[in-house]
Amino acid sequence: MTPLPKHARTVIIGGGVIGCSVAYHLAREGRKDIVVLERSKLTSGTTWHAAGLVRRLRPSATLTKLINYSIDLYKELEIETGQQTGFIQTGSLSIATHDDRLTTLKRQVSLGRAFGLEAEVIDAKRAGELWPLIRTDDVIGAVWSPADGRVNPSDVALALSKGARARSVVFHEDTRVTGLRKTAGRISGVAVGEHIIEADEVVIACGLWSREVAEMAGAHMPLYACEHFYILTKPLPEVQALGPGIHLPTLNDQDAFLYARDDVEGLLVGSFEPNAKGLALSKLPADFSFDLLDEDWDHFMPMMENALRRIPALERAEVRMLLNGPESFTLDSQFMLGASPHVPGLFMLGGMNSSGIALAGGAGKALAEWIIAGHPTMELNEADIRRFGPEMNVLGALEARIPEVLGRHYDISYPGLSMDTARGQRRSPVHAALQAAGARFAARAGWERAEHFGGEAAHFPLTFGAPKWRDQVGAEVAACRIGAAILDQSAFGKIMVQGPDACAYLNRICAAEMDVATGRIVYAQILNARGGIESDVTVQRHAPDTYLMITGAGEVVRNLAHLRDKKAAMRVEITDVTSGWAILGLAGAQAHQVLARASAVPVPLLKPFGFAPVEIGLARGFAGRLSYTGQRGYELYIPAEMAMAAHEALVAAGASHAGLLASGSLRIESGFRAWGHELAPGITPHEAGLQRFCAMETDFIGRDALATHQPQRQIATLLFDSPDAIPIHDEPIWFEGQVAGQITSAAWNYTHHRSAALAMLRLPLDRLMAGDIVEGFEVEIACKRYLARAALAPLKDWKA
Ligand SMILES: Cc1cc2nc3c(=O)[nH]c(=O)nc-3n(C[C@H](O)[C@H](O)[C@H](O)COP(=O)(O)OP(=O)(O)OC[C@H]3O[C@@H](n4cnc5c(N)ncnc54)[C@H](O)[C@@H]3O)c2cc1C
Repeated sequence: MTPLPKHARTVIIGGGVIGCSVAYHLAREGRKDIVVLERSKLTSGTTWHAAGLVRRLRPSATLTKLINYSIDLYKELEIETGQQTGFIQTGSLSIATHDDRLTTLKRQVSLGRAFGLEAEVIDAKRAGELWPLIRTDDVIGAVWSPADGRVNPSDVALALSKGARARSVVFHEDTRVTGLRKTAGRISGVAVGEHIIEADEVVIACGLWSREVAEMAGAHMPLYACEHFYILTKPLPEVQALGPGIHLPTLNDQDAFLYARDDVEGLLVGSFEPNAKGLALSKLPADFSFDLLDEDWDHFMPMMENALRRIPALERAEVRMLLNGPESFTLDSQFMLGASPHVPGLFMLGGMNSSGIALAGGAGKALAEWIIAGHPTMELNEADIRRFGPEMNVLGALEARIPEVLGRHYDISYPGLSMDTARGQRRSPVHAALQAAGARFAARAGWERAEHFGGEAAHFPLTFGAPKWRDQVGAEVAACRIGAAILDQSAFGKIMVQGPDACAYLNRICAAEMDVATGRIVYAQILNARGGIESDVTVQRHAPDTYLMITGAGEVVRNLAHLRDKKAAMRVEITDVTSGWAILGLAGAQAHQVLARASAVPVPLLKPFGFAPVEIGLARGFAGRLSYTGQRGYELYIPAEMAMAAHEALVAAGASHAGLLASGSLRIESGFRAWGHELAPGITPHEAGLQRFCAMETDFIGRDALATHQPQRQIATLLFDSPDAIPIHDEPIWFEGQVAGQITSAAWNYTHHRSAALAMLRLPLDRLMAGDIVEGFEVEIACKRYLARAALAPLKDWKA
């Protein structure tokens, strides 16, 4: 056995499909001196027993792109390495027995078209021809995706490891990492018992053990395991009758929580059952390797009954085994990858949510490129590990939430859908008052945030059509325009930047001019060296050496990491004060009068983007003259313990409430961009139409990249012609027969009584840049095209 080295450039922990893929891609990119350490044997964790289904059509652009790459790679890998991956292009068949299921499937077909993926919407008869063993009398439609297939998961991992070995990556099996070493806060090596391997970078790819391994370095990977089941039958005459070498497509019957494929002349039928079983790591023996969990027929029986209904031939089948294997899931059902925001040099990829085989190729490549470039090289926000702060890594929350995540794997992706478990983790200081006012909450980054104030009754049933809450939100929009509506924004991150160098430092970090007078608020973007938008923030100057930065609820972790990374020798203190402050928006034409009624002292007359101390009933805080709705109004910053007193005073003075759906509709009307939608690390201020907020005369990070930047795409506003169009996100937009872009945010517009959206458009750039309102766009929603017009100007400025 090769002795363990004393030093390696990169140590990858975990020899499952993920660790092998990261090793392969790092080596392929030319990285040398890589070591993979595997506790037992390669693939011995979860990888070896996966069902191996690889399906291209997914609900989001990022997942679709990553999986597309994986499948193309698995097709080619044998030619390069000589090791088969077992890829068979069987195609996949997804059937629908419910209108909204068919809509969900069609939405994925449309999304796939934005990337040139062809899939066909077919009828029940054709579905029955493609999968002759299924009953189709209740099938109302289906999607046939011919480019999908399946692989042998162990062989994929072995082919990746072979490709890595051929490029000098060294694999050590039976080598358990027992500790992680840090020097001055940065990762510096791993411990294997007494032996230390010094390393410049460490990658955690330990599957369901990743959370515990990350904790060895004080880092966070909030994931948790579930038991995951499929049956394997002995050969069935109906499958044998297909003939040698003929395979069935992968079958997805998501309404019955099932997937199936043929397997050694029999069938494999698996499930994502609604009442999933969580699995505490403590229940697994330390030497768990090529092991399975106990069969549990009582648990699987309802799924078996569903399977018998769909595939009657199963009645005659002899079940070879009920396979039960562990797999890890995350709080929001998206996998996580990236650089640890807390431990420089530590990278992570895990929580694959039962798509690890399909994702391994693309995600491994994405992480390898991130490691080498020092930043993500593609759009990865939804998977970026920096969406989780330490406060999300709570075992109690994971235990409560994760079984629901598996159970909802096949949920219909309605707008307004949210998880039911692990709720109430982070509550605004005025939560109780909002609840009493009828708030319907949705959770983001653990925070409960009011979507609207119609309560549960105005929320359900969920639909892809006109939502039940439309009138309720309309009333809240009206209040934000003509009344005075409280918008609780307390979940926003708040970061204090203080010290003698605070102004110079922020002028380097932020693209706007930050040397403003005390009492002013600056809207600014934080850019990376490539000129992409890492974040957009508002920053208040409280004193010459004191600023308060306000950022999005989900962006605090990444902002703090960025701010600390760029601090160098600057004399500044950066403090997360999120928990200390409530933020109450107060929007509408009556906002000033309501605030004046709530205050015993005169309310300061503020210019836009000014702020000043204010009294609100028994509370004291600051009022800023700005509103994310684009309407007249304030943001009120109040110490957390006084927030209820302020809220009571505002309500007594005549304020009403509005939720996120109302502010979202108004933000789109005003053309305000939102991070994670219109703004991302791969999008520049010029593309976002925000270059006027860049002070090119200051020396901010990203300025040089912007100086020569010629945007080839633009964020624009879209207004649909018909009120029937209900876009959600990511829908492809066609112009003169070509894909012109995709929707980035959408909402019902209460001025025009139809949907409006923001979108990233590549075509026709010249006409858009000339200031035209361009007609003739077609937005494809669930395989149907809807006409729309677009312009760069915000909708509120469009002339009728
Ligand atoms: C029943 C079932 C069916 C599935 N079907 C599919 C499917 O059809 N399609 C699909 O895409 N996905 C599927 N999955 C999911 C897929 O199998 C996983 O997402 C994937 O295998 C995860 O790979 P991994 O490398 O992250 O984890 P693993 O394969 O578990 O690898 C992690 C490795 O880390 C090692 N390790 C842990 N701790 C240490 C340590 N301290 N030191 C050194 N090494 C360590 C472990 O020994 C292990 O080998 C399925 C999962 C299950 C359970």
